[in-house]
Amino acid sequence: MQLFAICMTFIGSLFLVFSLKPTRYLSHESSQPGWKPLYGLIVIFILGYLGFIYYLLFHYQHFIIYSVFTLIFFLGGLFVFMVTRLSIESYKNIVNIAKETEYKSLHDSLTGLPNRKHFLMKISSLITKSNPFTLFSLDLNNFKQVNDALGHYYGDKLLIEIAQNISKKLDGLSILFRTGGDEFMVILKDSDDVFYSDIIERIHSAFNETYQIMHYSIESSVSVGATKFPNDSNNLDTLIKYVDLAMYVSKKTKSKCVFYRDELNEDATEKLAICGRLRNAIATNEFQLYFQPLLECHSKKLHGAEVLIRWPQLDGSFIAPDIFIPIAEKAGLIQNITQWVIGEAVIQLNQLDKHGFSGALHINLSAKDLNTESLFDLLINQLKNTPLLAGRLILEVTESAMMLDLTCSKTMMLRLAEYGFTFSIDDFGTGFSSLSLLRELPIDQIKIDRSFVQYMDSVKTDHAIVNSAIFLAKNLGCTVVAEGVENSALESELEKLNCDYLQGYYYSEPIPLTDFIAQYCK
Ligand code: C2E
Ligand code: CA
Ligand code: CA
Repeated sequence: MQLFAICMTFIGSLFLVFSLKPTRYLSHESSQPGWKPLYGLIVIFILGYLGFIYYLLFHYQHFIIYSVFTLIFFLGGLFVFMVTRLSIESYKNIVNIAKETEYKSLHDSLTGLPNRKHFLMKISSLITKSNPFTLFSLDLNNFKQVNDALGHYYGDKLLIEIAQNISKKLDGLSILFRTGGDEFMVILKDSDDVFYSDIIERIHSAFNETYQIMHYSIESSVSVGATKFPNDSNNLDTLIKYVDLAMYVSKKTKSKCVFYRDELNEDATEKLAICGRLRNAIATNEFQLYFQPLLECHSKKLHGAEVLIRWPQLDGSFIAPDIFIPIAEKAGLIQNITQWVIGEAVIQLNQLDKHGFSGALHINLSAKDLNTESLFDLLINQLKNTPLLAGRLILEVTESAMMLDLTCSKTMMLRLAEYGFTFSIDDFGTGFSSLSLLRELPIDQIKIDRSFVQYMDSVKTDHAIVNSAIFLAKNLGCTVVAEGVENSALESELEKLNCDYLQGYYYSEPIPLTDFIAQYCK
C-alpha cells in the first residue's frame, strides 16, 4: 500500500509539473497578473508533494489517513493540470476570435483585399515613420455600366476577378487595397522612377485580357492617378485628395497614369470658379445657341442642324461646352441648362421656319436629363404650344448617358417616343457599345463619333468600324450621321459606304442663327 500511496502522490506531482508550462505561457502572454503568483504556488506545491513522498518512504503508518491524503494530492494535481490546460485552450480561442475579428475589420469581405481602414492605418504609419512612398489610386472605367447592364451579381464577380488579377500582377511588389466600390489603392514603398513605370505597366496588364464572367466576355480598363510622399505633401488627407484628383485627370484624358502636379489643383480651383459663375449665367441669360448643319450625303442638301450651346465671355472668348457641361452636371445645374436650350431652340426654330427651314434640330441631352421628370414635363409643355414640334426635334443621347440608369432611361425614352420624339445615339462607338441597346430602346439614328470618322481614310480599323456601324444601323432601320467630316476624301468615302447624313467642319463650323439663316435658308 505504501508503494501505491507514493505512486499516486508522484503522479499528482507530475500533473503539477505539466501545469507549469501552460501557466508560464499564460503568465507571459495574458495581461492577467494572477498567473505569475500561481506559477510560484505550483512550484511550492510540487516541492510539498516531493516532501510528502519523502515522508511516506520512511513513516508509512496510518493507512486510511495517508490514503485519503494521497487521493487528495492526486486529485489536486489533476485539478490544477485540467484548469491550466482548459485556461490555455480558452485563451487561444479568444485570441483566435480576436485575430479573426481584427482581420475582418481590416479586409474587404468581397475580394479579401485589405480595406480602406487598413489603408488609412498603413499610410498613417508610413507618414509617422517618414518612410517615403508613392500612392496610386485606381478606378475602373465603365464598371457602373457593367453593374447596370448585367446586375450586381456579375459586377461583384468581375470585381473579384479583377482584384485577384491585379494582385497577381503586382506579385507582392506593392500593397493593393480595395478602398471603395470599384476603387483601389496601391502603396509602393521607397521606389525609384524605373520602378513606377513597372508598377503602372503591371496594373494595366491586368486589363489587357477579357474577363469571362459566366457566358459574358467583359473588357475593362482602369484610370490611374499617383502622388508621392513626402514630395507632394506630408498630410494624409491632402495626399488622398491629390491622388484622387490625378486619377480623375487620368480618366478624363484617358492617360495610363497621371502624377499629381500643382497645375491639377489649379484646374480644380478654376472649375470651382466656373461652377460659381454658372448659376449666375443661367439667371442672366449669358448663353447663346450656335447651329451646325447636317447635310444629306448624296444630294448635299441641308437636312437639319445640331444646336450647340455657347458661353461667351466679356473678353470675346468662349468657355467650351466640354468644360462647363460636366461641371453643370456635377453641380446639379444641367436641367436648367437643358431647359434653357430647349426653350431657346423652339423659339429659334420658329425664326428658321420663317426663312424656309423645314429640317429638324438636334438637341444634346445630358446624362442626367433622362433620369428626371422635368425633361418630360418640359417637352410635353412645348408640344401644347407647337403640336408638330416632336417631329422637328431629334434628341441626341450618348450611350454612357443611357447606361447611367438603363431602366429609367428606357422608360423616359419610350414615353417621349409615344409623343413622336425621336432619338439619336451621339458619339456612337465610344461608350459601352451594347448592341442590345439598339434593339431595346426607341433609337432612330446613330451618330458615328468623329474619332472614327476623322482617320477612316488612313486607319483600316476605323474604316472597318464606320463600315460595320453603317451596315448594322441600316439593318436595324436606323439612319446614320457621320460626325467630324473635315475633308473631301472623307466625304467621298462616306458616300461610298452609303452613309445618310454628314456633319463637320468641311461644310461648316457651328455658327450663330443669323449666319445660319444667311448661308442655308432662302
Ligand atoms: P457633340 O454633341 O459631339 O458635338 C459635336 C462637337 O463636335 C461640337 O463641339 C462641334 O463643334 C464639334 N465638331 C463638329 N464638326 C467637327 C469637325 O469636323 N471636327 C472637329 N474636330 N470637331 C467638330 P462643341 O460645340 O464644342 O460641343 C462639344 C460637346 O459639348 C458636344 O459634343 C456635346 O456633348 C456638348 N454640348 C454642346 N452643346 C450642348 C447642349 O446644348 N447641351 C448639352 N447637354 N451638351 C452640349
Ligand atoms: Ca451631339
Ligand atoms: Ca457627337
